[in-house]
Amino acid sequence: MTTGKTGPTGPTRAAGTTGTTGAAGTDASLGDALRAAVRGPVVVRGDDGFDDARRPWNLAVDQPVAAVVEPLDADDAAAAVRFAARTGHPLLPQPSGHGASGDAADALLLRTHRMDDVTLDPVRRTARVGAGAKWGQVLTAADPYGLTGLAGSSPVVSVAGYALGGGLSWFGRAHGFAAHSVRALDVVDATGTARHVTAESDPELFWALRGGGGDHALVTALEIDLVPAPELYGGALLWPGAAAPDVLGAYREVTAAAPDALTVWFSLVHFPGAEPMTAVHATYLGPPEEGAALLRPFERAGGTLTDSRGALSPARLGSVTAEPTAPQSGLSSAELLTELTDEAAEALLARPIEPLLNVQLRHLGGALARPPADAGTEAGACGVLTEPYLLSTYGRVPDPGAAAGVRERQAELARDLRPYLTGRKPYTYLSPGESAAAAFPAPALARLRALKRERDPRGVFRANAPVLGPPSPLGSAPR
Ligand SMILES: Cc1cc2nc3c(=O)[nH]c(=O)nc-3n(C[C@H](O)[C@H](O)[C@H](O)COP(=O)(O)OP(=O)(O)OC[C@H]3O[C@@H](n4cnc5c(N)ncnc54)[C@H](O)[C@@H]3O)c2cc1C
Repeated sequence: MTTGKTGPTGPTRAAGTTGTTGAAGTDASLGDALRAAVRGPVVVRGDDGFDDARRPWNLAVDQPVAAVVEPLDADDAAAAVRFAARTGHPLLPQPSGHGASGDAADALLLRTHRMDDVTLDPVRRTARVGAGAKWGQVLTAADPYGLTGLAGSSPVVSVAGYALGGGLSWFGRAHGFAAHSVRALDVVDATGTARHVTAESDPELFWALRGGGGDHALVTALEIDLVPAPELYGGALLWPGAAAPDVLGAYREVTAAAPDALTVWFSLVHFPGAEPMTAVHATYLGPPEEGAALLRPFERAGGTLTDSRGALSPARLGSVTAEPTAPQSGLSSAELLTELTDEAAEALLARPIEPLLNVQLRHLGGALARPPADAGTEAGACGVLTEPYLLSTYGRVPDPGAAAGVRERQAELARDLRPYLTGRKPYTYLSPGESAAAAFPAPALARLRALKRERDPRGVFRANAPVLGPPSPLGSAPR
């Protein structure tokens, strides 16, 4: 089955607005040249709609790009790559910019949302997914067949952006990184040539694209494995903030014994002007009664405010956390934890989380800590994650002045938990200013860098977090 896409609507040019642009002359001449090269809509500095077009999902990040191009299909995307290679403007593929870093000076921002076809093969349990397709589309298409993909918490994150960076799914404990569910990719390389990449056709590029980010090629479509989800259970539990010690105690008990099919997240939540709250979000790939039994220890923490748990369908996976789907302005942080001891739990709860909105623990382990199950296929660049928990935080940044307070509180929490942090961060959780070097063990980083120099020596492609970026300021943290 196939889901369609919208037709192009070209931008209008504002009268009398011109400027200059680095590699290809004036903004106006850049726009003319780009429009002559590609069929999809193009906007350059000075055009009406330029600021809307260049704005990422994370509104806290400014992207000082030179132009925005929206290819209509894979051929059009290849034309954009050739244009970038010819003119020296780096090409920044970005489905929507949940992970935007702002490292975008003079770039051509390539928006893939017009290439969002999703075609399912329920017999082979695979989906062919266009570069701009979002997880919600795949989950909705897979739902009638009792199948799901290895999606994360948000239905509006793109499959490509997420899976290229590894992708930590609700079902990662059962099935591993989403990157390891990628079977094949259609790409355009740095010379502008379209290629089909598999483990057999180009093992090194296949390895890099499974978790190493999108710095080595432009992906136009990918084929992913789906997994059975004939029965799925999940939902959210909410308590007042004062219940946090009891809920965290139950969380440690539940996660210590959890089967791989169960994934549970613990959150401290504090909306400005409201009372603090404690939340648990969970999914279980199995019968509801089994899921409910596994979560029973949480019932000891009395005073539950809401409980949305019940039978779920894959299409409703996004309802578990009900994260905002509209663009937001905020800063996140992430750390991997080696253990959740009494002392670590105490440090986590020691102070109010303000001005952060959310401090969350995600249970990892299971298949994420093992090489992929398919014998003979090497683990992708995301490798394996042996850390059992991910700590992630989020603070709203309604104006630039709020950023420092959010960063300070995130750094304070990291200091409080220092003995339990490895310093590594999953690539999809890198935040603006952090380097790809924080996401990969040294041998994987060296391999990604060598491949970048070999396949894209002139830097045609630029990822949110480039693999040749500066060393991580957190690189000295213990590994
Ligand atoms: C609300 C929210 C929930 C999230 N939940 C999860 C989660 O549960 N698990 C998880 O792992 N992550 C999660 N993330 C992080 C998310 O996976 C990253 O932000 C990721 O960058 C995907 O976002 P995007 O689709 O907007 O991609 P963008 O941020 O637009 O792009 C990400 C990068 O992917 C690469 N890329 C994208 N498309 C292509 C392409 N066609 N060709 C080459 N390279 C490409 C580029 O290098 C680009 O820099 C979440 C983020 C938010 C904001």
